[in-house]
Amino acid sequence: MKQNFTLKSYEELLKYFKQTHNFTLFKEYDQQDKQNTILLRHDIDYSLKHAYEVAKLESQLGVKSTYFLLFSSPFYNMLDEENIFLAKEIAKLGHEIGLHYDVSVILKGNKSNPRSLFDAEINLLSNLIENPISTIAMHNPSISGEDIFRESGYINTYNEQFVKDMAYFSDSCMAWRNNFVEHLEQDNFPEKIQLLIHPILWSEKEVDRYEKLDHFFQLKTSETEDMINDSREIWKNHSGVIEHDQREKNR
Ligand SMILES: [Zn+2]
Repeated sequence: MKQNFTLKSYEELLKYFKQTHNFTLFKEYDQQDKQNTILLRHDIDYSLKHAYEVAKLESQLGVKSTYFLLFSSPFYNMLDEENIFLAKEIAKLGHEIGLHYDVSVILKGNKSNPRSLFDAEINLLSNLIENPISTIAMHNPSISGEDIFRESGYINTYNEQFVKDMAYFSDSCMAWRNNFVEHLEQDNFPEKIQLLIHPILWSEKEVDRYEKLDHFFQLKTSETEDMINDSREIWKNHSGVIEHDQREKNR
């Protein structure tokens, strides 16, 4: 199996795991279950558009997974009309939606009562998808310090049962660790797996990881250009602007 991070190779990976494991949502996971289980997780740091493409592919293959959405991403706004629509669509496909939260941002936002800001994010997300949220995943655990919401009453993807009691693999930075590829080549994955996949890293065409970032940059640039052009048109036709410019011209 090629490790080239195309959507085609992602499809092959899903088909492989469909033969060996049962795809299970975090909220449905039962530790006592003796069957081979895979918990497929997506942290959405960059774009819900890419997430939606992956969600559709998974749904066509009968695979369910959990999408963790972030309110403090500098790249997408969870309250944007299109993103609200996409989050609802992902949920409609049968996937679970969870909260991806940045502890350092929450602590900056409300140092004296971070829990209330965390709860506000949970409530807002649950409102947007019109369903309760039961599962959470911390953003940037390696650089954000301690997960202060580990014992928050929600299912936390970094709890021992999901990382110590099962094998954990991630495609972070568009790279697989040796052990993942060894399991794949020897066709001998452990019985219980948590697999973290970032949809932004998987594309139609085969491109290297830096080109992938360049493509995302171009996409954001063209979206920003379109929005700036919309503002320009609104400003041009604004009656106050016409009045102002007319007056100043005649002065
Ligand atoms: Zn993240």
